[in-house]
Amino acid sequence: MIPRTIFDSDHEQFRDSVRKFLETEAVPFHSQWEKEGAIDRQLWNKAGAQGFLAPTMPEKYGGVGVDFRYNAIVDEEISRLGLTGIGFGLHSDIAVPYILNYGTEDQKQRYLPGCLSGEIVTAIAMTEPGTGSDLQNVKTTAILDGDEYIINGSKTFITNGQHADTVVVVCKTNPHEKASGISLIMVDAGTPGFEKGSNLEKIGMKAQDTSELFFQDVRVPKANLLGEEGKGFVYLMEELPQERLSIALTAAASCEGVLEQTVEYVKDRKAFGKPIASFQNTQFKLAEMDSEVTSLRVFVDRCLELHIQGKLDAVTASKAKLLSTDLQCKVIDECLQLHGGYGYMWEYPVARAFADARVQRIYGGTNEIMKLIISRSLLSD
Ligand SMILES: Cc1cc2nc3c(=O)[nH]c(=O)nc-3n(C[C@H](O)[C@H](O)[C@H](O)COP(=O)(O)OP(=O)(O)OC[C@H]3O[C@@H](n4cnc5c(N)ncnc54)[C@H](O)[C@@H]3O)c2cc1C
Repeated sequence: MIPRTIFDSDHEQFRDSVRKFLETEAVPFHSQWEKEGAIDRQLWNKAGAQGFLAPTMPEKYGGVGVDFRYNAIVDEEISRLGLTGIGFGLHSDIAVPYILNYGTEDQKQRYLPGCLSGEIVTAIAMTEPGTGSDLQNVKTTAILDGDEYIINGSKTFITNGQHADTVVVVCKTNPHEKASGISLIMVDAGTPGFEKGSNLEKIGMKAQDTSELFFQDVRVPKANLLGEEGKGFVYLMEELPQERLSIALTAAASCEGVLEQTVEYVKDRKAFGKPIASFQNTQFKLAEMDSEVTSLRVFVDRCLELHIQGKLDAVTASKAKLLSTDLQCKVIDECLQLHGGYGYMWEYPVARAFADARVQRIYGGTNEIMKLIISRSLLSD
């Protein structure tokens, strides 16, 4: 792998501490968490105490006030180790930034310190049973009644859904409008009428508490609105590049992690009296994968660099999400093949990685939606 140039020694120190933390606090327990369908809630508090949650947040709210490279390091280390139950990325890179970027000072004071310490786990609820890609058509409503919104509707596939203490809910404050009727409203767990539904059974990411959420006549103060009424869709569009970069970072790290494990496996495993690494097919497959993963790494690092300069546009982020997740699925499939039957066994990391990776092409906007965004930019006048 060619050297990465965007990190300095402070970052590498931070990476070491994240890796050690995960190796001690998460790796030994992750397979048990897969059986339980959720990680240990305490991991959030432990990570918060180390400054690993949303480190970009300003110091006055309890953050570290550093740039997005630190989030990237946490994302990469979690992904490299295959700890897909841990929803820190969704919290730190996606949900919490909405509070910082669009919240009032009061909302920031109320939520951010807890989000950083791990006392408050966040989720973002866009997707509904009837609406995923076509986000403008969400049906959940938030109708103003005096000083309160009354929220009705349901959401599904929500990451961190069971652990969430507060949820950024995408709803229609004006159900007659499409994008311009959308607003973002914070709903805290325990609010009457807000129920967490089942923790969904998935083909992968089994330790992730992806859930249904239900809202029936949920009353929240008007002060729970994030930003302005009717601007929710604009805010979502502004934040999506970071979400897509975050997915690309995890995809690249997962490719590297699985490739590394596969190199060790093929050196060790013997067939016809010699290591399978000695077959030309194995060597060529590894060479092809390593070349593609190297080029992905360079591209994703460049996107990260652009992002910290405030220059990552939506189209480039979409390209990063599309390329990285397609390659992740391809590389892991090839690596699984090189493991033979063992690659199909859950106890092997490559098997888990195979199941875990598949959703990367679906969430954060499907890869087909990424192609729409990219092609529109090519064809528009
Ligand atoms: C594990 C997991 C975690 C998730 N986490 C969250 C979360 O935290 N918060 C949240 O809000 N959502 C979350 N999601 C939901 C995810 O973002 C949606 O599943 C995704 O956006 C796709 O929506 P959909 O499932 O309704 O598919 P649909 O929109 O029904 O799409 C079905 C198929 O049609 C294709 N398609 C749709 N429209 C077009 C088009 N115009 N042109 C071409 N093809 C098209 C899609 O690409 C896809 O292949 C999660 C999903 C999963 C599985």
